Order: sequence, then C-alpha cells, then structure tokens
Amino acid sequence: MMAGSLPAAVGFLAAVRPHGGSLPRPDFASAGRRSELSEETAGHSLRAVLLHPEAPDGAHARDRGTTVILAGELYNRDELAGLLPAGSSPDSDAALVLALFGLYDVHAFRLLNGRFSAFVTAGERVVLATDHAGSVPLYVSAAAGQVLAATEAKALRTAAGGQPLPARPVRRLAGVQQVPAGTVLDVRVSTADCVAHRTWAPPLSRRIVSEHEAVETVRQVLDRAVRVRMGTDTPLVVLSGGIDSSSVAALSARRSAGRIDTVSMGTEEADEFPQARVVATHLRSAHREVTVSTADLLRRMPHTVWAAESLDPDIVEYLLPLTALYLRLEGGGRRILTGYGADIPLGGMHREDRLPHLDTAVCHDMATFDGLNEMTPVLSQISGHWSTHPYWDRDVLDVLVALEAGLKRRYGQDKWVLRAAMGDLLPHEVVIRPKLGVHEGSGTTAAFTRLLVDAGVPHQGVDRAKRMVVHDLFDHVVVAGRHPDEVKTEEVVEQVAERLASGAPAAL
Ligand code: AMP
Ligand code: MG
Repeated sequence: MMAGSLPAAVGFLAAVRPHGGSLPRPDFASAGRRSELSEETAGHSLRAVLLHPEAPDGAHARDRGTTVILAGELYNRDELAGLLPAGSSPDSDAALVLALFGLYDVHAFRLLNGRFSAFVTAGERVVLATDHAGSVPLYVSAAAGQVLAATEAKALRTAAGGQPLPARPVRRLAGVQQVPAGTVLDVRVSTADCVAHRTWAPPLSRRIVSEHEAVETVRQVLDRAVRVRMGTDTPLVVLSGGIDSSSVAALSARRSAGRIDTVSMGTEEADEFPQARVVATHLRSAHREVTVSTADLLRRMPHTVWAAESLDPDIVEYLLPLTALYLRLEGGGRRILTGYGADIPLGGMHREDRLPHLDTAVCHDMATFDGLNEMTPVLSQISGHWSTHPYWDRDVLDVLVALEAGLKRRYGQDKWVLRAAMGDLLPHEVVIRPKLGVHEGSGTTAAFTRLLVDAGVPHQGVDRAKRMVVHDLFDHVVVAGRHPDEVKTEEVVEQVAERLASGAPAAL
C-alpha cells in the first residue's frame, strides 16, 4: 500500500463551491510538487491543489459521489483493512479511508491511527478531519455555498471571510479557523451549518498495573509505533542522545535490515554531540553531526514560524533548532523519526518526586497541546522531508497518558517506565541520562534571550518580548504572506525592543 517511502500527499488546499470558481493562490511553506484536482460532483465543483513528494495518485480516491483527499499517512492499515468486506483491497490510504467512510461515515475517523488531515466531499457535505493529535494542522474557511480548507493557514489568507465554526480562530486571518485535534467537522455546503464530532480525547483515568506489565506494554506499543513509521528506505533518526530519541533509534536499528542513519545538531555554543555519539556507536548507525552557528540559528526563526504557524514562543524555541537541522539535510525526501513529545504524556519535564504535581502537569499539557502545532510535519517539509513522532502515535499515547503517575516517576527517576523498557537496548549511561530539552542543549533559549537583551530589553521583559517577536513574525510570514528569507529576526527584535522602551501597548 505504500508505494514509495513517503506519504502520497503532505498537504492540500481544497475548495467546494456550487458553481466553480478559482482557488486562492496556493501559498505553502511545504516543499513538494503540486498537482491540481478538479471534479464536478452533485451540483458542486471541487478544486484542489495537492502537495506531493512523488506520484499524487494515492492522495485522493473517489467512488459514487464521494471523494477523499488525504495528506499524511495511516499507521493501523492492517487493522483497518480487516474491517472491509473480503476481497476489497484499497491501494492507498485515501482509498482505505474512502472505503471506511462508506461503511461508518464520519465515525470512520474514530478508527484511524495516523498522522493526517482529510477532506471528504459527499453530496451536500464536506467533512474535515484531523488525526487524534491534530498533528497535521487543518484550517477551514466556510460560508453559505462554499467550503475551503488547507493544511496551512497561509494558503487561506486571501479566502473571503468565513463564518464562525466550532473551531479555533486564527490570529488576524478573518474567518479562517483551525480544526481542533481529534475532530471531524461535518459541514453542509449550502448553509455552512456544521456539526463537530470528537474522535479522540486523552484518557482521563489512570491504570494500575504491575511494573512488569507496564514495562512490557510500553516496549510493545513503542516498538510497533516505530516499526509502522519506518517505511521502505533506511530510516533517519534525529538523535540527541537523550532517552527519548535514543529509544526510537534503538528500536528502528533492531527492525532495520541495514544500518540506520542518525544525525545530531549543535551550535558553536552548545551541543550534545558526545551523548549522541555514545548511542550512535552502540547502534552502529551511520552518524552525522551538524553544527549551525548561533547567528544562522536565530536567522531561521521566521522559517520556524512560517512552517509551524505557531504563536507560542516556547514552542518556537523547541522547533527552531530542528528547523535549522532540517534545512541542512540536503537531498529532500527522507523519512525522519524523532523522539519528540515523550515528555508530555510521561511528565518528563517534572523534576521532583511529588506525584500530584506530575499528574497535574500531564493533565495540563494534554489539555493544552492543541493549536500549538508542535508536531507539524511542515517543519521538515520546508526542505522536503517527512517527519513522524512515534511517542505521539495514538496507541502509544493511550498507554502512556493512562499509566498511574507512580510508574512515570519512580526510584527518583523521571520517565521511569520508558527507561526500564529500554534497559536492554541502550548503554546504562543513556538509560539514566537526565532530561535536556533541545532548546537547552542547542543553546537556543540562551541565544534568543541574549539577542533581546543586547537590543535593550530588560531581563524582566524578556518573556514578553519573546512573545511579541513571535507574534510579529507570524504577522509577516503567515498573515502578510511574506517569504521568511525576506524577514530578518534582528530587525523584528529591534522593533519590539523599541516598542517596549517607548511604552507602546503590545499589540497582542
Ligand atoms: P527534546 O526537547 O530533547 O525532547 O527533543 C525532542 C526531539 O528532538 C528529540 O527526541 C530528538 O529526536 C530531537 N532532538 C533534540 N535535540 C537534538 C539534537 N541536538 N540533534 C538532533 N535531534 C535532536
Ligand atoms: Mg533532549
């Protein structure tokens, strides 16, 4: 079912209208070839642009008045195929979703474990769906008679004002809204009336299981999540040498016929190269170290905001070093596995023993991840790579979130259950290595702070200034549609510093 190693499509812009009409100019940060799709269905016309790395055929499927457009991929294909009548064998993920939609309608999306956004036209309806984590962002603008949707907000920035939907408004893009994570919006085209269905929610209860069972279960689900993400080519793991990415690398190395590739980034000020090298040596991976100068790193901040369309300065600091790394990976078209996101369900940022605090952090983070776009594939897609995060697999999350807090923090260790599950695959020093965030290990947070302080921002104003910088960058590269190469981080920082110094109200 997987022709090449990458998803058939990585993004789309699609519109359904009663009487044709042209699409807005398709503005994407994602690289990739573009194909146009045009169909006349039951009194409506569908126009779409698909972004695809290889042949686009597998990204859409049509049968008797229903059309599915899918960006991304599914991870439980075999289970899903088992639900179909004997003899039917869909030849793409879009065809599989189409067949399931025929059987279950919107409830098909409750069955999927994947990293995708979907656009379905069926008679009078347009159905928009995100995966459980909203990991491929999806935006919509709908008014009576027309529904437009795209995997990047900037692709809808010139769409005429949509009406309010049960979705999240996007800053300064009137009528453009983001479809929530784990949600299907069922829209009636003629009226833009919309019904929302939640298809996934983080578990609220906690499971009490033995140490042994917890460790076995975590190993098993993570192993599967890595295996189904590996594709047909040599996997590439972005490796810090921490327990999260080292586990992913170890599991993919075990599943891979040949050596896997690993890559680590650092700056001239900070890196985790020695830690990553221990893992690469242990796994005999083909390992590479990429050093980005701090100046180049900061220069890439507009690209991070352009790709992630995030307004959260913490998220931008996490994603910036990875943006810089992805932009240095030539060739394009690699399937990249990360250790991203393990700390959220496991409370890994929690650095003390009190369990109530740990579960409070897990509850908070699982309730607030949506809309941050932390998991977006566009980050690596700006250089043509497809990234995927095994810890945010639906089944892995269901297991990890639901473990009682005492299995997450145990014997004075954070993420104990994961460390115990990987004990036999990694050197002991890696298994017990304390958490270091990518924003810390690369010196990103410190460099951004210094840039602001050097521009005259007082220390107590740094957090506010970071937020203002990120919002300004968003206004340039998303709202105004400027290319990030034309936007200078330093100039935006200077403007923010001046605004703060003059006491002008922050335009947030
Ligand atoms: P962290 O904030 O350390 O949890 O980082 C999230 C993920 O980003 C890790 O699991 C790695 O896959 C990747 N990563 C973090 N730091 C680096 C680095 N220095 N080089 C390459 N990849 C990294
Ligand atoms: Mg780390």
